[in-house]
Amino acid sequence: MSQLRAAAGGLRRGGGGGRAVPPAGRRRKDASVGVSSPGHRGRTPAPPPAPHLFSDPAEVGALRGNLLAWYDRCKRDLPWRRVGGTGAPALIPALFPAVWVSEIMLQQTQVATVIDYYNRWMQKWPTLQALAQASLEEVNELWAGLGYYSRGKRLQEAAKKVVSELAGRMPRTAEDLQKLLPGVGRYTAGAIASISYGQATGVVDGNVIRVLCRLRCIGADSSSPAVIDRLWDMANALVDRSRPGDFNQALMELGATVCVPKAPLCGECPVKQHCRARCRVEKELAFASQKLFGNPPPVPDVEDCGVGDCPLCPPATEPWDSSLGVTNFPRKAAKKQPRVERTATCVLERRGCHGAPEYLIVQRPSSGLLAGLWEFPSLPLAQGLQEEKQREVLADHLQAWMGQPVVAGRLRFIGEVVHIFSHIHQTYVVYSLHLDGDVTLDPALSPSRWVTEDEFHTSAVSTAMKKVLGGTWAFPPFPSLWSWASPDSGPQLEFSSGLSCASFRC
Ligand code: SF4
Ligand SMILES: [Zn+2]
Repeated sequence: MSQLRAAAGGLRRGGGGGRAVPPAGRRRKDASVGVSSPGHRGRTPAPPPAPHLFSDPAEVGALRGNLLAWYDRCKRDLPWRRVGGTGAPALIPALFPAVWVSEIMLQQTQVATVIDYYNRWMQKWPTLQALAQASLEEVNELWAGLGYYSRGKRLQEAAKKVVSELAGRMPRTAEDLQKLLPGVGRYTAGAIASISYGQATGVVDGNVIRVLCRLRCIGADSSSPAVIDRLWDMANALVDRSRPGDFNQALMELGATVCVPKAPLCGECPVKQHCRARCRVEKELAFASQKLFGNPPPVPDVEDCGVGDCPLCPPATEPWDSSLGVTNFPRKAAKKQPRVERTATCVLERRGCHGAPEYLIVQRPSSGLLAGLWEFPSLPLAQGLQEEKQREVLADHLQAWMGQPVVAGRLRFIGEVVHIFSHIHQTYVVYSLHLDGDVTLDPALSPSRWVTEDEFHTSAVSTAMKKVLGGTWAFPPFPSLWSWASPDSGPQLEFSSGLSCASFRC
């Protein structure tokens, strides 16, 4: 598997799932998993070879029944599932915000992480009207630490749009939801429409991709638009007509808890009798065991579907690997490496009116990465910049904020903090500067304010900045900054810069 690799994950929804890529528990990306939009379908491709389809109505009926019975018995108790029952129309007003908010939060985020955020969000903004009246600052504060901050922003923009432009009436079909609401992609639209409004429409997220690819031995690149289109067709054909919301949740739940990326629990799987990947593994095992006992059967029928140049089978250059078993599927092209960036950041500290330390934070631009969030004054560093030069550019940058000269030599290097964004490997080179007197911040620059440590943690700051203040070092501070309290209590940090050990929670 040089180019494609068995994707050990799928975006995940809970304790088990995940894709090679996001670890278990995390869930789909919605449109960003490569899901095609309706505009993608300009031509009608030839139907896939039969082995990759669910063409027997009896089998489809059995699969739906087995999966739903398992879901009724085994589904996890999650707060957004407590709001309503089975997507009955009477529950629509109550279900809608719960499903929408949970679906948006679950994109790229672990279920365990989402629960607390979801509960706080629903407590604060239980209705669309309440959310529409919130400020972006409030949304960012509640979202702080959840990552992918544009999700919260767009959720609120969509709520505003429903209230102000759609007279408070929610679109009720997947097509309209996707067309009319910002931040609602094909997956989210399908989930809301099926779970809240009972529309018989399928969903495709990372978990569903994994389950379907295994059920039908799809080994072509599962992130390619052609394969994603096929999976959507399959999901739309499979979805149960009377309980579409439950069926979709059941399929995702199966991927998150049973058909997990690395070690699927095939023995406990409610749809194992419909799974062609498992069937293939069993045939191979039967063949191997009969061979062991000197009774070689005919060569097992474990070839690909038999159609030359099949667009859904693994490519000839990347054939089935017996050692991987069912985890041969799904496969996806190797992920692009994140780009490497370095940013100088300075923790500016002063004594507040009660003697407690206060830190300067400034607001990021309203678009782009971490839009509108607050951070310590920072600036990107050119590659290969010498340490002395780093200090100088940072001192110049700080001077603009403070309106007074900053001597580069007074900036104390503290350490480096690494934070991985989805597409950026970011290293923060952290300096500190303790101010003796007060400074007047230039109001013409971006908004800025002084905060205590407690205020810092309740502000809309990113996880990366919390790491900076929390001292999650990738590169230890200079040895001169270390001292050892006692062998039992472990290493303690001392900062002669004025940054106290407590403030870095070392
Ligand atoms: S039998 Fe195994 S591989 Fe097939 S769907 Fe079930 S858990 Fe997944
Ligand atoms: Zn094939």
